[in-house]
Amino acid sequence: MTIVPDTLSLIGNTPLVRLKGPSEAAGADIYGKCEFANPGASVKDRAALFIVQDAEERGLLKPGGTIVEGTAGNTGIGLALVANAKGYKTIIVMPETQSREKMDTLRALGAELVLVPAAPYANCAHFVHTSRRIAEETPNAVWANQFDNVANRKAHIVGTAEEIWDQMDGRIDGFTCSVGTGGTLGGVGLGLKAKDEKVVIALSDPHGAALYDYYACGELHSEGSSVAEGIGQGRITANLEGAPIDTQFRISDAEGYEWVRRLLDEEGLCMGLSSGINVAGAVRLAKQLGPGSRVATILCDTGFRYLSTLYNNAWLASKGLVPA
Ligand code: PMP
Repeated sequence: MTIVPDTLSLIGNTPLVRLKGPSEAAGADIYGKCEFANPGASVKDRAALFIVQDAEERGLLKPGGTIVEGTAGNTGIGLALVANAKGYKTIIVMPETQSREKMDTLRALGAELVLVPAAPYANCAHFVHTSRRIAEETPNAVWANQFDNVANRKAHIVGTAEEIWDQMDGRIDGFTCSVGTGGTLGGVGLGLKAKDEKVVIALSDPHGAALYDYYACGELHSEGSSVAEGIGQGRITANLEGAPIDTQFRISDAEGYEWVRRLLDEEGLCMGLSSGINVAGAVRLAKQLGPGSRVATILCDTGFRYLSTLYNNAWLASKGLVPA
């Protein structure tokens, strides 16, 4: 164990854990990248750091400046902690449907929080468009634009993918995860393919997202819905352009939630629903790749961020999910 010089050095270099239950279920070796171990407790700290560094290098972000972003919450938390560590301010626009814990964390970090009603992307009131307008109207501000700013996926090409490759000693058959911005799937996919083009890259898409159909048959089309926060995309973002997707799975909330419960009950890992959906996808991918295959996925954030939702029986019942 070493001493790191500052908070930002705590971002990345996360552990990779072998997941016992999923490995047994698949007859394979399934590994989870512990992104909840980042200082903001999610995978989005990586994107936040790269986006801020990129804006500084381009001369867009000046001392005392403000970073504005629309987010399901985790990117906002990452940006707020990076901003605090570097002396910037943050204005975070978030749909009011996201968890209370993420809002409280953002306020605790000193971010100015703007809550907007959930709206379709085509609606100008959508959180992404609202954040762009606020950035334009605020003096000395930059818009992080995580969906179409490829500094996001670069964090995963040079960071997450390299780390997984090294941690697995180059012995990896497949990788899968779900998509919010596509930074993780696009970046890790490109990074791993550059190491070995035989690594199978799979999308694990929640219901209500349009990417499963896009990669299966070339059409952006969605069905159903999901209560998973931070994932479920309806368009090809810049971070997804050219992503080397070989195969795809559509995962229901019930299937993802079953893994959330099993990870907690059998392995003591308290995760969010996107992690459960990723693990469900990893089990499916490993079964497809065959006995003894080695598959990695992302444990995106901590379940402590969802105590009022995913770990609350009344909330679960209201969403049609049966407590285990
Ligand atoms: N899971 C959670 C909980 C998230 O907040 C996000 C980011 N929105 C993701 C998964 C997906 O990550 P990405 O934006 O890199 O696609």
